[in-house]
Amino acid sequence: MTDIAFIGLGVMGAPMCRNLVDAGHDVVGFNRSPARVEALVAAGGRGADSIAAAVRDADVVITMLPDSPDVEAVVLGDGGVLESARDGVILIDCSTVRPETSRAVAEAAARRGIRPLDAPVSGGEGAAIDGALSIMVGGEPDVFEAAKPILEAMGTTILHVGEAGSGQTVKAANQLIVAGTIELVSEALVFLRASGVDLESAVRVLAGGLAGNAILDRKSAGMIGRRFEPGFRVDLHHKDLGIALTAARDAGVAVPMGALAGSLMASLRAQGSGSLDHSALLLQVERLSGLTNELDAVRRSD
Ligand code: NAD
Repeated sequence: MTDIAFIGLGVMGAPMCRNLVDAGHDVVGFNRSPARVEALVAAGGRGADSIAAAVRDADVVITMLPDSPDVEAVVLGDGGVLESARDGVILIDCSTVRPETSRAVAEAAARRGIRPLDAPVSGGEGAAIDGALSIMVGGEPDVFEAAKPILEAMGTTILHVGEAGSGQTVKAANQLIVAGTIELVSEALVFLRASGVDLESAVRVLAGGLAGNAILDRKSAGMIGRRFEPGFRVDLHHKDLGIALTAARDAGVAVPMGALAGSLMASLRAQGSGSLDHSALLLQVERLSGLTNELDAVRRSD
């Protein structure tokens, strides 16, 4: 079993960490807010009060942080992972960040004798709890093979997709698909409700045909029930669409539907709904359809 340091015990990091503990690993956690460290200790892990203390004896360091600047600060910054980790440690960044951030981290880590992987995840909080994440991994193939047993405690679909930064590129594509699908499911739900059909039967029959998809399966009940607690926050998906649109431009390709989804997500956020689940794109469709009462009701309780 492996000594693992885990930094970032939020919505995703906390259950991922618990699965590593349950798999028998010795896990030391660190988080900016101490309450989350206490929750890990209650679940059988150990707590640290600094990055340095968490990573000092680790064989594997995992980060699960909100955004690129957070990863840069935690890994590259003063008192960060690269200052304190031992030579030869595997550094797995599971956060969703810019591909160039992952490449910069990989270069700095390699200079320090640390073995980096970018390993963003998909599946949401439910899959994190169930240890059933999809994990897309960029980096050296031998490092991927060495890290695979650790990743298998957190996910079920785990694939190496290329050199450093490639995991983030695949995750950017993932986020285009998810945002576009939520938007179309939202449009369908608003349309069906306005047309007066039996909404729940409509969703069941749609899910059984070619229109079936994971958003219909996992999110539509919450959308119909007006439950938008995250889950995956609008703020984070807005960040991810910024990453995806920039990466697509850098690759020289057009992503018109993704750009539209990015604008709708940005608008939802600008209207004060950044802390809601991304399935709240439904509220945007209602607003565009003149159904402002339901939007206002949700914003009042936000
Ligand atoms: P979150 O905000 O719930 O968790 C992030 C945690 O990192 C917080 O507990 C925060 O206190 C901690 N943190 C931030 N800066 C820190 C620092 N400098 N030192 C120590 N701790 C620090 O976010 P999340 O939903 O768990 O998402 C984490 C990452 O995973 C993001 O990049 C997100 O885009 C991605 N992701 C999220 C989901 C989801 O459904 N929530 C799904 C897939 C991927």
